[in-house]
Amino acid sequence: MAQQLALGVMTRLGTDALTALQHVRSLGVPTAHISYPVAMDNEAGVREIEAARRATDIEITTVFCSFAGESYANISTVQTSVGLVPEATRAERVEKTLKIADFAHRIGVTRVAAHIGFVPADHSDPLYAAMVQVTQHICDELAARGQVFALENGQETAQGLKRFIEDVKRDNLKVNFDPANMILYGNGHPISALDVLMPWIDGVHCKDGRWPTQDGQLGEETPLGEGDVDLHAWLKRLLELGYRGPLTIEREISGDQQKQDILRAVDLLERLRRGDPGAANMPCAPSPRCRSTTASPTPKAKSGCWRRAEDAKEGLKAFGEKRKPSWPSK
Ligand code: MG
Repeated sequence: MAQQLALGVMTRLGTDALTALQHVRSLGVPTAHISYPVAMDNEAGVREIEAARRATDIEITTVFCSFAGESYANISTVQTSVGLVPEATRAERVEKTLKIADFAHRIGVTRVAAHIGFVPADHSDPLYAAMVQVTQHICDELAARGQVFALENGQETAQGLKRFIEDVKRDNLKVNFDPANMILYGNGHPISALDVLMPWIDGVHCKDGRWPTQDGQLGEETPLGEGDVDLHAWLKRLLELGYRGPLTIEREISGDQQKQDILRAVDLLERLRRGDPGAANMPCAPSPRCRSTTASPTPKAKSGCWRRAEDAKEGLKAFGEKRKPSWPSK
């Protein structure tokens, strides 16, 4: 079991678990979320993953589902292609979700997560009832193996997701909270959303992004600390509400730039963890990145790009007061 608030990264194993987990270790973090490695879903693959975990001492805390044919190009394609919402592929994707959960169980992972798609906000829509039903089915199957099913947020408002979880009525239904997704999909502020969803949040993605600038388009993902999430305030609230699970960095690009961005994210999170005032005073990118960091921006936020330095210092003070019992020493 990972230490409280252990850092992690979202990664892929591909066909070489050892190389993938050595890469995670090289980033200086002890945990990982992995996407489902279809090529390793066999006895040899499971043995290889177990050996790689022992060799690297990396804990895999979540296996993420993904499905053939999904597209995140814009809001419309997400609505029609992602998750369990599209009726034509729903049955096969439910079966695949259960197959992924079985794989996760065989590699010793008790948490399975997914974007289930755009659940209708209208509770009288037959699709809403259908989504409640399939989610109940998945939760029941996972519960039999001692697993939880975590919904990646973002394609709905926080209140909409809360209502859906309450309607599903399953104790092993959780939320993997990604603050950037709230912004990228234009569905609300990620800090106030914590207050709504905290009872179900058992994992997070530390990801950043900017609000959409055109109707129908997603916002733009950014390196951690450079988008509209207001990372420091978000983390502060997350801890105030009692979160102690892994902090898993997600950067949805590839190659050397992804590695560099993740290393900077690790450094930023570790500095925040130490209560380094320099971390709170990190420069915010020029407007319009600053425009939406809070519902009611302070004069400082409006007038300068040193992001609400006084607020940040005060936040760190509160961080520091809680830090000793809250943050692990390593
Ligand atoms: Mg995410």
